[in-house]
Amino acid sequence: MEPRAPLKTPADRKNGKHVKANDILPQGVYLPNNNIMAPYMKSPEYVQLSTAAAITLGIMGGRMHRCGCTRCLNLLLTYPEGCRANCAYCGLARHREADRDYADRNFIRVDWPAVPMADIIDIVASDPDNSPFHRMCISMITHPRSEDDTFAVLKQWTDKIDPEAIPVSILSNPTTMTRDDVQKTKDLGADIFTVALDAATPELFDTTRGKGVQSPHKWSKYWDIMLEARDIFGPQKFGAHIIVGMGETEHEVLQLVQDIVELGGHSHMFCFFPEQGSLMDHLPATPRDQWRRVQLARYLIDYRDVRVDQMKFDEFGRVLDYGIPEAELADIVNDGTAFRTSGCPGKFQDDISACDRPYGDSPPSDIASFPFQPVKKDIKKIRKQLKIPVEVE
Ligand code: SF4
Repeated sequence: MEPRAPLKTPADRKNGKHVKANDILPQGVYLPNNNIMAPYMKSPEYVQLSTAAAITLGIMGGRMHRCGCTRCLNLLLTYPEGCRANCAYCGLARHREADRDYADRNFIRVDWPAVPMADIIDIVASDPDNSPFHRMCISMITHPRSEDDTFAVLKQWTDKIDPEAIPVSILSNPTTMTRDDVQKTKDLGADIFTVALDAATPELFDTTRGKGVQSPHKWSKYWDIMLEARDIFGPQKFGAHIIVGMGETEHEVLQLVQDIVELGGHSHMFCFFPEQGSLMDHLPATPRDQWRRVQLARYLIDYRDVRVDQMKFDEFGRVLDYGIPEAELADIVNDGTAFRTSGCPGKFQDDISACDRPYGDSPPSDIASFPFQPVKKDIKKIRKQLKIPVEVE
């Protein structure tokens, strides 16, 4: 699972130079592939939001396969020069400035249109108690203005919308953050603080988002900030994003899940998808049997008090036994919650994520993370993918 090397960016496209050479004001909603230079379209006035959130808000038309709406308003800071990191699996990585303006790139699998923050707040603030959103999340990217603009976006939100009605999560960029920054997000009303660790081991982290791809991130800094968040936000209010299938073993990723649980946090999982244009677009998506085993085991560790050392693994680190009786395992598989998208909780129950990210890690034809409750036909498919003889009633 080696990323390819980034190509050299021509000087006239570095750091969004050719976009910033224009003098065009942004107007309303900007859809990726509009291909309009938008040098002033930046946070905190503008943010990007997931296509699912834009459809749910009514800003964009469209329908999502088997989903009425998304429960999480996912926002992303935006700048004409884009993210300054170079993560190998990410559609927003810096090397892509060679062939695509930042505003026209997608994240992973889905487009993120750019919208004035004030417009979003106006829509949600009109009736927060009856909003479809159970949570809002601000994703920071790697940029020198990222902290200040996160504070500004968060403040704009909490000034008008009670965070008790719609709690806020921060998906942080530890590389440029200090403990005081983490504290400030809490003081401004954030509820949960997460770090996008993404890679499951220090070596993979370095290869996919550190010096292996000329990117600035360091595993140790991500852990430092996660531990600050644990201290400041407290148990169950911090966690890490982890991508499964970038070269780690199932045992390695599940040990990481266990370590985070022991600290008092949660892990939010993504199935690796080879995003076109990324430095890993030549690599295979995570095989479904591997993904399902990790999804199920992670659910048991995170929500059913099963420990990784109760489980059994083969010589390749694959899960052989989940450490609980077969009948109990069958009930959990048949319930289906373990296979839903994982993330910060919404208003239904603790183990159902508000952040359902429809089709953010797979196509609808071969769903990895279910953005809805799997039904009987889905469970049948999951059971086949798991390759374990669990009967559906
Ligand atoms: S820091 Fe985040 S947005 Fe930037 S390249 Fe890495 S994964 Fe993508």
